Amino acid sequence: MARTRILAALVTVGLLSVGAAAWQPSQGAIDGATIEQVKGNLYVIKGNTPVDRSVFSGGNVGVFVMDRGVAVVDTKLPGWGPTLLERIREVTNKPVVTIINTHTHGDHVGSNDGFPDSVNIVAHANTKANMERMENFQGDGAAFLPDQVYEDRLTLGSGADQMDLYYFGVGHTSGDTFIVYPALGVMQTGDMFPWRDAPFLDVNNGGSGVALPETLGRAVDTIDGVDTVVPGHIPVTTWESLQEFQRFTADLLAAVRQAKQNGQTADQAVVGVDLSSRYPEYNSTRVEAAIRVIYDELP
Ligand SMILES: [Zn+2]
Repeated sequence: MARTRILAALVTVGLLSVGAAAWQPSQGAIDGATIEQVKGNLYVIKGNTPVDRSVFSGGNVGVFVMDRGVAVVDTKLPGWGPTLLERIREVTNKPVVTIINTHTHGDHVGSNDGFPDSVNIVAHANTKANMERMENFQGDGAAFLPDQVYEDRLTLGSGADQMDLYYFGVGHTSGDTFIVYPALGVMQTGDMFPWRDAPFLDVNNGGSGVALPETLGRAVDTIDGVDTVVPGHIPVTTWESLQEFQRFTADLLAAVRQAKQNGQTADQAVVGVDLSSRYPEYNSTRVEAAIRVIYDELP
């Protein structure tokens, strides 16, 4: 019985590879898919940003090699399962036993179905509720919804294999998880810290630009002993970069609030709010969209 199932799994993986190759022939060459060591038993399969859709793979994927198997944090866009498995095989032969989805977006949960049914999928309760509304998870796809949810904090494993999952409140969506690897001093933020630019505020999934700076502030104040951060989409960076992003979101909120109090329209706020001198290394491609969301949220 077991041998039949293994054979079936191998055939399935083979078919998936062919299927994925047929419609995404260039994905192996995309810079967003190489695996790199972060520290110790933690690796990242690199993500990129959705600025150029033709080479977009999705977010950064954490690969945490534990004693009993591999935990994968986020699964990129649909169709990336075979590539993720290939990259994981570059560093370990252990099976994937856990998936953690940081939040509901398709570039972070898209290839949950690229892994065996037996994998334990973990997410915040609000993220499971958000995922239940996604097309990918209807019908047979429901098998790849989270099996395990939590509300405030959840610890998985111990010692070198410990992962602490934290929920600090609404921000990018209503269910964003921060994952701390305490033995390594590393934290993975999902899209609560996606890039150096204004945040994407997904109000349709319970996100909020008014709540985001406070939620990030709680993360910064609560978490101890982290020096290395795996953001949602950009390369691995420092704790100070996360602190800087928190300040950026707080400054953006304060500037939009001030503009609205001064009687400006949203269009005027878009023209007038400019943080580029304070944050010279930040892009501004997403600032207008964020300003408009925050403006609508404010009373
Ligand atoms: Zn996202």
